[in-house]
Amino acid sequence: MTSRRRLLKTGLAAAGAAAIGVSAQAQSPGPAVVTARRFRGWISRGTGRGRTTLQDLTLRPITGRQVLVRTEATNLCYSNTGAVLGLGPNFGGRLGTMALIQGHGGVGIVEAVGPEVRRVQRGDRVCVSGTPQCGSCYQCLRGRADMCQFLGRQGPDDLVPIADMRDGTAVYANSHIGGLADLMVTFEEWVVPVFTKATAADLGMVCSCVAVAGLGATTSQAVALVEPGSIVAVVGCGPLGLSGVQGAKISGASTIIAIDPVRARRDLAMKVGATHVLDPNVEGDKLVERVRDLSRGPNNRLWAGGRDSGGLLGGAGADFVLEAAGADQAPPKVEAGPDPTGILPLRQAYEMCAPGGHIVTTSLPRGNITLPAVLFTIGGRTHHAGQAGGASPMRDIPRFVELLDKGQYNAKALATSVVPLERMLEAYEDVVYRTTITAIMTA
Ligand SMILES: [Zn+2]
Ligand SMILES: [Zn+2]
Repeated sequence: MTSRRRLLKTGLAAAGAAAIGVSAQAQSPGPAVVTARRFRGWISRGTGRGRTTLQDLTLRPITGRQVLVRTEATNLCYSNTGAVLGLGPNFGGRLGTMALIQGHGGVGIVEAVGPEVRRVQRGDRVCVSGTPQCGSCYQCLRGRADMCQFLGRQGPDDLVPIADMRDGTAVYANSHIGGLADLMVTFEEWVVPVFTKATAADLGMVCSCVAVAGLGATTSQAVALVEPGSIVAVVGCGPLGLSGVQGAKISGASTIIAIDPVRARRDLAMKVGATHVLDPNVEGDKLVERVRDLSRGPNNRLWAGGRDSGGLLGGAGADFVLEAAGADQAPPKVEAGPDPTGILPLRQAYEMCAPGGHIVTTSLPRGNITLPAVLFTIGGRTHHAGQAGGASPMRDIPRFVELLDKGQYNAKALATSVVPLERMLEAYEDVVYRTTITAIMTA
């Protein structure tokens, strides 16, 4: 049986192209092999501060289903901060000892494709998506590209060397992407062609894992629908939550309640579409009740279609909750939230959802959650585990780029730091201490 690792390297596309009598080569002009090209990349290896250093690298040949992308921009995702800055104790296992280029997304220009690649051509502008979409696995065939099974093939045995350091050490691309470099070497499954004249920073923002998840959760039907006129609560207003605020507005929500401990983030939420903001530190135990109050609307008459907070399961609440808080990777240098593990905001997000409503969770919390059991069993809340916000990369990312191009998505407001490749590390310090909304590295 063919392993998935082998499929990544050789692949189904060549077989498919042969079956329909089309030469993959004919669809993908350009050199199949680029040799000995020099480029710069941030290499993470070992433990502690200083594990990430800028290195001169030599590219290995591009083959099979590989795609070589000249990086234009990469989002500095909060979830990567520990690995990049060497915070926390845990870089054990083989991945910690491999020379890895971090960064699980980016945008750029295709410079070369392997002979089996059909999806993109040399010269295409592409999003290298944090979530792949192969189109042929069990999940992709059932409309859940957000769960594409290639997503799980990023372990040490799945990665392939893409370059060499000066001392001959083999270099690998984290997540088959490795955005923190002048060049990205990825596979066909991870690229989405986009046709736009947007600036590198704007495009890098809207194509980032966090914007795709926030917009995916609120403007895509894959997991749950934000209905026009509905009430949406967004718990956690980092770049993901603030993209969700924008998506909720685009989808026509009439009440958008943004919740975050950081004043600057609440102010920005109002600027990009929120109708109300709440500080969880000020509201304390009353946060859920406050959201229910804001959700009651002008009519609380049960005979007239109204909402009421009373009863065992509650009546009022948000029709749709986007949870995007998560655990702190370091104590923030701005206002800290009530729970550094992210568990409390997750539970509150569940509880503030209305009976019959939907909650999409997207965060990376630490620990286990406890919920009122009866609320969970018969409370009518539908939970969706929102990896990538349920977005389907090939279907949704071009749509999100359209929202950017038509002025419906405000990328500039969220990309509050834009830095060149050499200043990546200092920009990541701003990200981990939450003194910026997010940072985009341009190359
Ligand atoms: Zn990410
Ligand atoms: Zn798939």
